[in-house]
Amino acid sequence: MQLIVDQSLNIVKGIKYRQKHHVDSSSIDLYGDFIINCTGRNISSVKWLKESFNLIVPTIQIHFGLGYATFIGERFKTGDPSLDSKHIIGYALNAFDKNAGFGITPIREIKTMDENSLGTLSTLLLQCVNYEYPPNDSYENLLEWIKEKLDPECYSIFKSTKICSPLVSYRRTIDDRKRVGQLGKKWPQNYVLLGDTICTFNPTYGQGVTHACRQARELRKIFQENCHKLKDISHIFNRRASAITEECWLLSTTNDWKTPILKIIKGDPKVLTRFV
Ligand SMILES: Cc1cc2nc3c(=O)[nH]c(=O)nc-3n(C[C@H](O)[C@H](O)[C@H](O)COP(=O)(O)OP(=O)(O)OC[C@H]3O[C@@H](n4cnc5c(N)ncnc54)[C@H](O)[C@@H]3O)c2cc1C
Repeated sequence: MQLIVDQSLNIVKGIKYRQKHHVDSSSIDLYGDFIINCTGRNISSVKWLKESFNLIVPTIQIHFGLGYATFIGERFKTGDPSLDSKHIIGYALNAFDKNAGFGITPIREIKTMDENSLGTLSTLLLQCVNYEYPPNDSYENLLEWIKEKLDPECYSIFKSTKICSPLVSYRRTIDDRKRVGQLGKKWPQNYVLLGDTICTFNPTYGQGVTHACRQARELRKIFQENCHKLKDISHIFNRRASAITEECWLLSTTNDWKTPILKIIKGDPKVLTRFV
């Protein structure tokens, strides 16, 4: 994807795109009066703005080494009825001394002849910060990790669970903010970023969906106010959207600063400043 712009007027007029699975196909030009980029966390908006307007978007990334391993499993009796009677169990992370956590949530009941089965399929999740990742190469290695990082009750539950799905890991979560509000009128007209395209957060604090919905509501409000010129809307939105991002950012990142191994990357991604 690429932006279609009028550089002299500082306006985005459309996007040029190519189908993901047909990279050899010719590109298609899509024009619009106002373009909202809400394509999520993996988008190259910073690169496009640099290419099209030589605009450097101030950014900050906080890498705190969050990682997950998750699977679907059938739980069996542990020998401790007080543990077996709990269907929803969790243990939250709290850096810097509790860098591992877990969560178990039932999905549905199953029919089984095995009297040791608890008769439910559950989602089991292990998580960490500080790059102390739960392994996903084998269940045996994962059990060793649990034994080392979590309490004996947790180990007992996982040890008596039968894994019924692949062991899936996810390690790409960071706090990643584009400070669009700082750019004022340098930001192009008729183009905005919204939701994860502006900022991604540590999912532990559940701010991402709220952030995207609040920004979408704010944009609708700006249009409904019916008193703004179209050319001003991206700047008005960036100002208001940044205030929303700031609230979610404070809620999500405050705890992350306690992570022992923290990597902060500030600035233009091509001219990075790193602190470890
Ligand atoms: C592991 C994990 C757990 C999370 N847990 C929570 C939670 O518990 N609570 C919470 O609030 N948030 C959570 N989040 C964050 C939340 O998922 C996001 O903040 C939220 O989905 C952002 O919404 P969005 O609409 O901005 O982006 P997205 O939901 O990412 O939507 C963007 C959409 O654009 C599409 N798209 C991308 N590129 C193109 C293209 N070129 N053309 C067409 N379409 C395109 C994508 O396919 C996608 O459907 C979690 C995130 C992760 C990674």
